[in-house]
Parts: sequence; C-alpha cells; structure tokens
Amino acid sequence: MHSQPPSFSEPGYSTILTGAWPEINDGPTFNLDYEDIPTFTQDNLFSSAHRSGWTTAVSGYYWFEKLIPQSDIDLSFYTPGEDSAADIEVMKAAMPWLQNDEAQLVLIHIDQVDYAGHHEGGPQSSNWDAAATRADTMLTEVVSAMDLSKDTLVVFSDHGQIDAGGHGGQDSDCLLEPFVIVGAGVNPGQYPDIQMVDLAPTLSALLGINLPASTQGEVKTDMLTLPEDVLIALPAATSDQQLGLLSAYASAIGKETTSLKLLKSNSVADTQSVINELRSQKLFGERVIRAIPTGILLAVAITLLLRQRKNKSFSWVLGGILFVALFNLRYLFLDRKVYSLSSIISQTDLIVYIATT
Ligand SMILES: [Zn+2]
Repeated sequence: MHSQPPSFSEPGYSTILTGAWPEINDGPTFNLDYEDIPTFTQDNLFSSAHRSGWTTAVSGYYWFEKLIPQSDIDLSFYTPGEDSAADIEVMKAAMPWLQNDEAQLVLIHIDQVDYAGHHEGGPQSSNWDAAATRADTMLTEVVSAMDLSKDTLVVFSDHGQIDAGGHGGQDSDCLLEPFVIVGAGVNPGQYPDIQMVDLAPTLSALLGINLPASTQGEVKTDMLTLPEDVLIALPAATSDQQLGLLSAYASAIGKETTSLKLLKSNSVADTQSVINELRSQKLFGERVIRAIPTGILLAVAITLLLRQRKNKSFSWVLGGILFVALFNLRYLFLDRKVYSLSSIISQTDLIVYIATT
C-alpha cells in the first residue's frame, strides 16, 4: 500500500479512516498534542458503520479518541502509552470484543513497533525486530479469537520509517505500508499495489455500508467476493459519491461552473483527475496574484541596488538575485511545483534541481 506525505500518524489515521488524502480530509497536517487534536469533520469508516447500525469498537493510542467522533464508537479503550506495556493493555481490552462477538467493526492498534523505531534504535535495530515479533504474537492471539469463515482480518500500518527511525516526510520508506486482508469476503491472491485512500471504501463495501462521503479511493472489487446486491449497487453508489465530492470540492474553491465541463466519466480516476485540475487552476490563479506585489518589491530592490553600483559586492548580490529569480521561474511556473515538502521527492532530487538551475 502507498500513501502520500505528510507521513505523520495523525494525517495517516485520518487518510485511512476517511479514505481522503490529507489535503481534503481536514485532519491534522502534522501530529498535534492530544488536547489540540480536532475531531473529523469528514465522513469516516466508523461513522458510516455506526449509521448502518453496526457496533463499533476501538482499542489503541488515545489520538483515536480525539479524531473519531466518539458518539460513533460503542466500545473503546484508549491509552497515552505507545510501548509494549501499552499494547498488552490494548489487547486485554479488545480480546473479549472478538471472543464474544461484541462488535462488527473493531480497530486494534498495536503501537510498539513504531515506538521501537522512534525510541529504541530505529528499524535497523534488534529492538525493532523484537517489537515486531511481539506484535506478531499479538496478531496470532487476534486470529485465534476470530472465525475467518465469517470474519475478515485486515492488517495494515499508517506509515513506514526511515532507517534512522522516524517518519513524517516524503521519504519512500515512510510512504510504503503493508496491507494484508484475509477471511470472509476475500478472494485470496496477490494483487497490484493499492493506495491508502482505497482502504476505507474497500472495507465499506465489505461491510455493506455507505462509502465515506469524501473518499478519493476506490473499492478493490477484485480482492473481494461481494454479495450480488452489493455488486449491483456499487457502480451507482460510487458515481454518486464521486460526483458529490467533486461538487463539494468545486464549490469550496469557487470553481462550480468549470467542474462538470471537464468530467469525461463518473469513474473514480476521471473524477479525481478533475479535482486535481481544479486545484491546479485555483493555485495558479492565487500565485499570479501574489506574484504582482512580489514583482514590484523586487523591482524596487533592484533599483536600489543599481544605485549602489560602485559598491564591490554589487555583482555578487546581483548574481544571487538572478539565481533566485531563475530558480523560482523554473520551480513555480515551468514545473508548477508547490512550496512544500510534497514537491520534493528526496534530498538528492532537490540538490540536483538546484545545481542544474
Ligand atoms: Zn511514529
């Protein structure tokens, strides 16, 4: 499974549960303190399941308590702990839910592998391997409490980590996650890569509930053996949801009139490409407006410098200004990149980019 930056956990949890990328899902852009974490304003897997009358349950790190509307969670256990001792408590709370079939949608959040990455030497250390082995043992316990002819198990994470330990940026190791699905409703096999936004709609189809309203992903029907009525209803449900999202997005950025003209079909791919196009148009317009006062300021600065022409450092300053102007001309107008980590593929990429400019 692949995700998009930022690869911090709060954006990752938000993407997984809303099925929308961080720019649209309205979740935190980076990890906020517990007291500052906002509750989802967008639809999500748990709210959708709860609306359909399913009993929902979450056991894990206490950030979930803030992110998911708690009125949509029936059973819960949250902890501020992230280590192996915290995971033992998380399992203790969740196992009875599975053993007694108390809920239909259960999230169990095992955190100690991430903890080992941050605090015990990173993914290359033996502590990481030990934490992963303990997490595997917990997974075995989870499976033993399930009946995979009736239940479905999904194992995934919200990010990877760099070798030195940590995540949050655009590093390829941080944006690659495991995704395993097994049990009832699953067509066993190896499948092409999926995107993190596909998780929520795919699980929604499996649960027979509404697609989360803001999802940008698609139901991975090839992985599933869905009931006939769900398969029949899915194309119309997908196209309704995508059109609803496009219209809400277009109206939020003041582009209602152009949105439908660009749409070739109601498929997820076409709708998402129109959303991307509208976004580019909006950003380009805003940048042009910002460029005018910036240009005036630059002209004033150059005029002042020209008056200082006899000063020795003049040619160096002029060279520097010329480089900055050329760099931004290429970066912003020729390559239409954004001023954020999202436009930087890697350190090397940025260095080569600067050098070749
Ligand atoms: Zn982490």
